[in-house]
Amino acid sequence: MTDRYAVVGNPIGHSRSPAIHARFAAQTGHDIRYEALLAPLDGFEQTVREFAAAGGRGLNVTVPFKERAYALADSRSPRAEAAGAANTLVFDAAGIHADNTDGVGLVRDLGQRHRLPLAGASVLLLGAGGAASGVVGPLLAAGVGALCIVNRTAIRAQALAARFADPRVSAAGYDALAEVPPSRAIVVNATSAGLADAALPVPAGVLRSARFAYDMVYGAQPTAFLRQAAAAGCPAMADGLGMLVEQAAESFRIWRGVLPDTEPVYQALREALGGR
Ligand code: NAP
Repeated sequence: MTDRYAVVGNPIGHSRSPAIHARFAAQTGHDIRYEALLAPLDGFEQTVREFAAAGGRGLNVTVPFKERAYALADSRSPRAEAAGAANTLVFDAAGIHADNTDGVGLVRDLGQRHRLPLAGASVLLLGAGGAASGVVGPLLAAGVGALCIVNRTAIRAQALAARFADPRVSAAGYDALAEVPPSRAIVVNATSAGLADAALPVPAGVLRSARFAYDMVYGAQPTAFLRQAAAAGCPAMADGLGMLVEQAAESFRIWRGVLPDTEPVYQALREALGGR
């Protein structure tokens, strides 16, 4: 029997997850169907329960429901606990199990695709929302030497840092970047500013002396943040398409017990995006 999965969000029409999982299924020979589900803003929980009751085996969860997916679950993985949010749900006899694969997706994309050694690295994380929350734990587990969380609303950065109680983690507002600019940092944009094509108040000197600029947002053309990094003279950069594929692969592994080969899927998606 064909096993059913889906990604649920609002909006959802833009999601590339169905195309990614169709490729993973073809590659591994797994018989699955993977759809996109639009949940009403006041009906996420009902949408999830109906999908599970109809025999669905698992869901990916995207904006704006990751915290609600976490709250809905009967059990949670340590990485979902650390994030306080879930992007992967598993349905079985024990109920709803929540996991979060965003962080491992970022770590694999940086470390494997972009060959950035993370052990001992200095990371400047821009943003303190759901995406940032999901990557702090996995970056620390990957051995980064310092992780500074910077957010427009500084108190959110402080609250996120406090959840980890790790001496490598600090928090600040953007104004602090001008005072103590980090050098040779991997700068990760986990804000949604780029969705409105907005630049971030990061001093050019920080980007010029950075080792790598990474934007979780992706597109056919360089994102606003990557254009900003290039204009400042940042030596190397990437968008978040690789993270998207890696987090999906980890969800597939949780559901199906096999980790797909992500590189051909990444290349196919990059080609389908066009541009550049
Ligand atoms: P979110 O929870 O809504 O958080 C948004 C964050 O962006 C907050 O920290 C917010 O700061 C900041 N922000 C928004 N507009 C800003 C601006 N003009 N200037 C400075 N900061 C601004 O969103 P999210 O779930 O974390 O997602 C963030 C982004 O990551 C989205 O674009 C999403 O598509 C992307 N993402 C990509 C992947 C992937 O696989 N590639 C995975 C997950 C997420 P305040 O706290 O001050 O409001």
